[in-house]
Amino acid sequence: MDESYVEKILKARVYDVAIESPLEAAPRLSRRLANDVWFKREDLQPVFSFKLRGAYNKIASLGDEVARRGVICASAGNHAQGVALAARRRSIPAVIVMPRTTPEIKVQAVREFGAEVVLHGDDFDHAYEHALGIMNERGLTLIHPFDDPDVIAGQGTIGMEILRQHSGKLDAIFVPIGGGGLIAGVGLAIKAARPDVRVIGVQAEALPAMRRALEARSRVTLPSAPTIADGIAVRQVGELTLALASRCVDEVVTVTEEETANAILLLLEIEKTVVEGAGATPLAAILNRRLGLARRNVVLVLTGGNIDVTMISRIIVRGLVKDGRLVRFGVILRDQPGALARLTALIAECRANIVHIEHDRAFSHAAIGESRVELTLETAGAEQIAAVKQRLTEAGYGLEEPYS
Ligand SMILES: *Cc1c(COP(=O)(O)O)cnc(C)c1O
Repeated sequence: MDESYVEKILKARVYDVAIESPLEAAPRLSRRLANDVWFKREDLQPVFSFKLRGAYNKIASLGDEVARRGVICASAGNHAQGVALAARRRSIPAVIVMPRTTPEIKVQAVREFGAEVVLHGDDFDHAYEHALGIMNERGLTLIHPFDDPDVIAGQGTIGMEILRQHSGKLDAIFVPIGGGGLIAGVGLAIKAARPDVRVIGVQAEALPAMRRALEARSRVTLPSAPTIADGIAVRQVGELTLALASRCVDEVVTVTEEETANAILLLLEIEKTVVEGAGATPLAAILNRRLGLARRNVVLVLTGGNIDVTMISRIIVRGLVKDGRLVRFGVILRDQPGALARLTALIAECRANIVHIEHDRAFSHAAIGESRVELTLETAGAEQIAAVKQRLTEAGYGLEEPYS
């Protein structure tokens, strides 16, 4: 079975649409982690994720007559764009069923590839059911996001590329797991040639569907849960993918939301690379898990870069707050002319920047003759903020918790 998969992977047609993505060394991160870290840059694909590999391989395998009738899938994410692009490349119609809650920007992206978008239901399950109905009605072919041999083989081309691109010592490959198509393909390719390389799957702690399924030796369905790793938010893994993963995956680890957010920020800040939540989970795993991998060669598959800017901005602000580079607190002043000027002068002497300031002369627990300032400061970090607070306290100002 594995051999026929290897053959399928070798024969997979993906390069009509996908690039052979670079495998890049990450020297700054490598120093920080005392490992040799390499990134497989699937975030650089035309639709900013690897999904077009599997989708195109499946679509390319269809006979002309079947293909002409068209394809369908249910997805609000990367699979939708992969299928839409792959169908356009083969000049066949595509119907993409998306939950009504899908952000307009994602709907638009799919429409721009010429696909027909059907908005239905409040979540993926309802959209999927509706897609099956349309499939039967119109005689379309369903392009499954993971549980399909041709899709798995298409994703497996990533494994073949890594083998070609990294001929030196290689200890482990970290692969995010949603439905399991990616790790099944990559794992089979890697194990066929270099069985000593550890294949490590990564899931969000909120939705560890593969980990549970491997433990139970059968597919489990988890309740839905929100996660910033939305690309791997799958409640039940595939039948095929579970069978394959049980043979080629050495270990599945989970990461928290916080760890994933930190990994996104770290990639932004030190590698100048934008990845989405799912794509950052391999880094989150290696940052936070004792995996016995010191001074080893590890490949992290950065699976996608589709993250919206509001999410990036929330992650950046949270990170700044955590590092003490952005801080908010209250200061009690004497309510008299010039008091505010003296306060801001003192803050300037400490070389901190005022980002936001609100002067409240009628706050509820004020003594007569007091006022309160709510300050947001930008500083170089926790040390500077401690220095500012000490200086203010010494000058006789009362400090308070920020308004929540
Ligand atoms: C789909 C996806 C995954 C997981 O792939 P599966 O085949 O579902 O396991 C990981 N990362 C991103 C960005 C994805 O879009």
